[in-house]
Amino acid sequence: MTERFRKNIVTIQNTTLFIQITGIVKNSRYFKPMTAFENAKTLNEKYNCFLEIFDEGRYPLSSGKLHGMTVAIKDVLALKDARLTCGSKFLENFTSLYSATCVERLQKAGALFIGKTNMDEFAMGSSNENSAYGAVLNPWDITKVPGGSSGGSAVAAASGAVRVALGTDTGGSIRQPAAFTGTVGMKPTYGRISRYGLTAFASSFDTVGTFSKSLEDAALALEVMAGRDEHDATSANVPVEEYSTGLKKDIKGLRIGIPKEYFGEGIESDIREAIEASKIKLEKAGCTLIPISMPHTKYSIAVYYILTTAEASSNLARFDGIRYGKRAKESETLLDTYVKSRSQGFGAEVKRRIMLGTYVLSSGYYDAYYIRAQKVRRLIKEDFTNAFKECDAILTPTTPTTAFKLGDKISDPLAMYLNDIFTVSANIAGAPAISLPIALDNNGLPIGAQLITNDFEETKLFSVAKEIYVELNMQD
Ligand code: GLN
Repeated sequence: MTERFRKNIVTIQNTTLFIQITGIVKNSRYFKPMTAFENAKTLNEKYNCFLEIFDEGRYPLSSGKLHGMTVAIKDVLALKDARLTCGSKFLENFTSLYSATCVERLQKAGALFIGKTNMDEFAMGSSNENSAYGAVLNPWDITKVPGGSSGGSAVAAASGAVRVALGTDTGGSIRQPAAFTGTVGMKPTYGRISRYGLTAFASSFDTVGTFSKSLEDAALALEVMAGRDEHDATSANVPVEEYSTGLKKDIKGLRIGIPKEYFGEGIESDIREAIEASKIKLEKAGCTLIPISMPHTKYSIAVYYILTTAEASSNLARFDGIRYGKRAKESETLLDTYVKSRSQGFGAEVKRRIMLGTYVLSSGYYDAYYIRAQKVRRLIKEDFTNAFKECDAILTPTTPTTAFKLGDKISDPLAMYLNDIFTVSANIAGAPAISLPIALDNNGLPIGAQLITNDFEETKLFSVAKEIYVELNMQD
């Protein structure tokens, strides 16, 4: 065999081998491009973050500003012809007759709806363990909670199932799970996004917002959803800004308030250190840090749980076994229908809140609890008004701890409620607030920082947020 001939044979053999290997790799499941819907299914098997994943093509795509942006919807928001369970057995078979305004606006702008996400029943909870359809797992560590009540949406965004997931925030249900999952959690000003089509929990607190990995996606989705809606009298008639312009704004000269009441005991040391690092970044960007005081912060949790349970007990009265969802079969009288349907349909936390709310609204206690809490609400709002005379934005931790273990707090409602200590005040005041990933703790879990600005100053919020935002990457 001549040398040349031998070389040719070797080349042919190598080429054949190369073609064979590429063929195997190309045909293997690793190289087959997955559709967004298949990807969501795979992730859902691991984390239980969806309650429904749509068939491809079920909701057609329109062209628009968000063309092709994958979006998941918390199952407390209506999407026409899709199931709307609110994480409850009560509404297991309830189908929505119309779409929420925010959902409709996203659809018109070209969003691609992937599915409806798991959540704490009627948005009550801080760990997503109150869902009637099982807990959601945190993709950073599946032994940990993802936070609640919008835990499914947080995980849908964190795991990469979607670019934007809609959540709702009554006392922290966007910001707290965003902190636990390393995502951007944006709660705009109360009334900035219409609540039409959102199943009410506490109507004077409920706010629609988003989870995303990037600040750009949060700003874009807000631009599309915000604005006056004739169907919601509390939706604000304030011009919608191009929020994404905030991401390019210089923040030199802004004053950042550091409220001493948010830095007391009980905050994990890794969180304290991460916030210190964020402060340094803001100073380097030309901001001045200003120590401020918000003296009524200590009443926030009490005010929140008195007022929201009162509103919830009234809002949830519509679930009577007659008008919506579940009806107990074996009931004989009308009263029996109410009692049995509600006893069977609602989970433990929802019942606890209805009882608390009914109590604080009952005659004899109404003045002592409800009216008093309304007065303190005003004082907390004034804390914010005064703070914004001194500063442009407020910086705090989002949560005192990083994601805790599944099962750790479920039998201790008070410990669970205390988790919301840094988030409820912004809802009490109605101010816009955002949670940003800023670092990982010693166990590799995400840490969130919260920024709050004055009403309707979302553009400013984004401009400060971009300076401290850190992209966190999950190792699978
Ligand atoms: N964790 C709070 C609660 O249980 C907040 C809920 C929410 O924002 N929807 O009420």
